[in-house]
Amino acid sequence: MFKLNETHSINLISWVESANRAGCDYSIQNLPFAQFRRMNSNENFRGGVAIGDKVIDLAALSLMGVLKGKAQAAAQACTQPSLNEFMAMGVEVWSALRLALSRALRNGSELQDALTICLIPQSAVEYSLPCQIGDYTDFYTSIHHATRVGSLFRPDNPLLPNYKWVPIGYHGRASSIGISGQTFHRPNGQTMVPGAEKPCVGPCKRLDHELEIGIFIGQGNHLGEPIAIENSEDHVFGICLFNDWSARDIQGWEYQPLGPFLAKNFASTISPWIVSLEALAPFRTSFSHPIDDPQPLPYLTSDINSEAGGIDIKLQVFIQTEKMRNDSQEPEKITDSNFHHSYWTIAQMVTHHTVNGCNLRPGDLLGSGTQSGPELAEAGSLLELTVGGKHPITLSNGEKRAFIEDGDSLFIRGNCHRDGAAYIGFGEVVSTVLPAKNNLKHR
Ligand code: MN
Repeated sequence: MFKLNETHSINLISWVESANRAGCDYSIQNLPFAQFRRMNSNENFRGGVAIGDKVIDLAALSLMGVLKGKAQAAAQACTQPSLNEFMAMGVEVWSALRLALSRALRNGSELQDALTICLIPQSAVEYSLPCQIGDYTDFYTSIHHATRVGSLFRPDNPLLPNYKWVPIGYHGRASSIGISGQTFHRPNGQTMVPGAEKPCVGPCKRLDHELEIGIFIGQGNHLGEPIAIENSEDHVFGICLFNDWSARDIQGWEYQPLGPFLAKNFASTISPWIVSLEALAPFRTSFSHPIDDPQPLPYLTSDINSEAGGIDIKLQVFIQTEKMRNDSQEPEKITDSNFHHSYWTIAQMVTHHTVNGCNLRPGDLLGSGTQSGPELAEAGSLLELTVGGKHPITLSNGEKRAFIEDGDSLFIRGNCHRDGAAYIGFGEVVSTVLPAKNNLKHR
């Protein structure tokens, strides 16, 4: 786990002035990674780092040859059309590039002229997925989400007995994961209406979002070699925002006995910028299970995980309906939550995933599961906010939502701040629902 170092100092000031503004997501203490190119161009996507309202073009920087050693090797790896190679280089290399960029971006740096040439306004770029996501696993780490959803699906038995022992997850599908700005058609699928004689097929009627964080794996492990909890964070490249779109009516009919399938693999959207665990070092929190709960088995326990396994990441969800967009009305906040509510830490997720010898690879993505807090206003899905659709929420323009409707855009934003540390943000992830395709065979 990272100790605080010179890159976290609250006193750093950048010659990129927009980075010094209060509340700027991409302060000099953040330095997140993405894959980008100039908007509407035929350029190759390549690695970039956010600073203020600009992107540092790492491919251009690599060509200038002004960085040294591991930092230069890192920048060179970021010339590739995906970040997998850079992710595979490991924590010392990521950290070396961060330190070099932090120094180069500070007021008075000798490299200011060289770096200035490599800056592109964020408003003039577009993003791709940051890497090839070989495998995607979705966890279920909010006990508040698990309990509320469980009580809707199984009123007599909301939280299954394994929950407090096993970091529950399922293997999802990577092919439908898209980058922020994604639009997708409402999924069609098979559902069983309560009281009906047989199921029917058609557009999902209970479309929902899930407020999650995405965890990118950096260096992987060999098949058959579990990752000990003491080392597990060394395998984590960084964190993004993640909206795991879900079709609740399809899910309710299909999920037993093998778990989620088509309710979950039609679209999931990630934010473009990946914030490193090093940047998140000032926001670590202690971690424990409630005293009356079972304590994790030894392989999921370490001193450092107890001292600082949690992360204080403030998470918000906003909705903008088609009418709001047409009326130029800003997205409206419907949820305020925090990753520190998670019942399992990132280290525990990685270690549990590999306890059987399963191999993770660079670029693999772990979803945290819906990050709901204990209060209803902290619920990370409409399923919870509306109690299974029974109590629709009312937006300020009078529109009501039980579930997501066609034309709705959903935004997730995240940031970290506390006294004595510089503010850093994750930016946002937005995606928009289009009407279902009307191409089903009905008879
Ligand atoms: Mn999910």
